[in-house]
Amino acid sequence: AHVVNKIAAGEVIERPASIVKELMENSLDALATRIEVEIVKGGSELIRIVDNGEGIHPDDMLLAISSHATSKIKDADDLFHIHTMGFRGEAVASIASVSRLHIRSRQPDADTGREIEVRSGAIGEVKPCGCPVGTRMEITQLFGNTPVRRKFLKSLGTEFGHISEQFSRIALANPRLHAVLRHNGKTIYELPASENLLDRIHMLHGKELTDKLIWIEAEAGPCRLWGYVGHPSLSRSNRKLQYLFLNNRWIQDRSLQHALGEAYRGLLMVGRHPVSFLYLEIPPETVDVNVHPTKTEVRFEDSQQLYRLLLSTLRTKFLSIDM
Ligand code: ADP
Ligand code: MG
Repeated sequence: AHVVNKIAAGEVIERPASIVKELMENSLDALATRIEVEIVKGGSELIRIVDNGEGIHPDDMLLAISSHATSKIKDADDLFHIHTMGFRGEAVASIASVSRLHIRSRQPDADTGREIEVRSGAIGEVKPCGCPVGTRMEITQLFGNTPVRRKFLKSLGTEFGHISEQFSRIALANPRLHAVLRHNGKTIYELPASENLLDRIHMLHGKELTDKLIWIEAEAGPCRLWGYVGHPSLSRSNRKLQYLFLNNRWIQDRSLQHALGEAYRGLLMVGRHPVSFLYLEIPPETVDVNVHPTKTEVRFEDSQQLYRLLLSTLRTKFLSIDM
């Protein structure tokens, strides 16, 4: 099982940022309203995620770190009605197999918490401990037992850049989440819970960008589309600033990206990657999110309809604004 875990880990845990993503998603699944991410040296030294979610039941502490154990899917049918972020039950096990992992967790109705430590796959005992309600995951010695992988980590700045990007995606997908990111003791982002998406974009990307955004919104049947796109006079063009969220999760979609490019074609915009913060809400049963382990690509039942919706919404909008 040890070897299998390490192989599986390669797929899910590519770098420190993958850990941050998986653990923040677990916190969201546990209904956390606040997540603090603490990083030391690009994650190579420490990754600590603290949430105020519903915690792990004492009897489930061991289950949480075993491979393919998930509390989120009961049968194959559930695969078609995914409302939670995680559903494969492999992230925590994979993380534990390539690092030292310490978990501390307490449920709201329990008077003490439980802790457990896993060192390169060697599982310690579950012990009682005092801790606040919620879960704290602490990862040290990342890739300590796989020196080759450790060597392949890029500079600490680059790794932190990837972490910051994952953090931003989750923060943008969940404006009502209080999210904090620290690196080497310094607060990088402190984002209070907010109803206002623009506030959040502002805090993450600055005023210069938010001043040049246009609100769009549209509906087609059960599908809703809304968000901000760059004014055609905005000269910033960057693939990284093309955010697309599907039912609260960051995704990548070539077809929709193409629609975006098409809508701007011939306009003043410089560059091929117009800035966008787009949100799609569609019935979960009309999309398959189970195509790839990292779950960023999806398969829509009717991708043509979404393509047309995005393209026509943007074209109509651009006709109505001053260029
Ligand atoms: P998955 O998210 O696919 O279920 P994971 O390996 O990411 O698998 O997590 C395993 C299990 O550990 C989860 O199903 C959940 O029961 C528990 N767990 C992990 N992180 C948290 C958390 N922050 N709060 C509560 N439970 C958690
Ligand atoms: Mg998970």
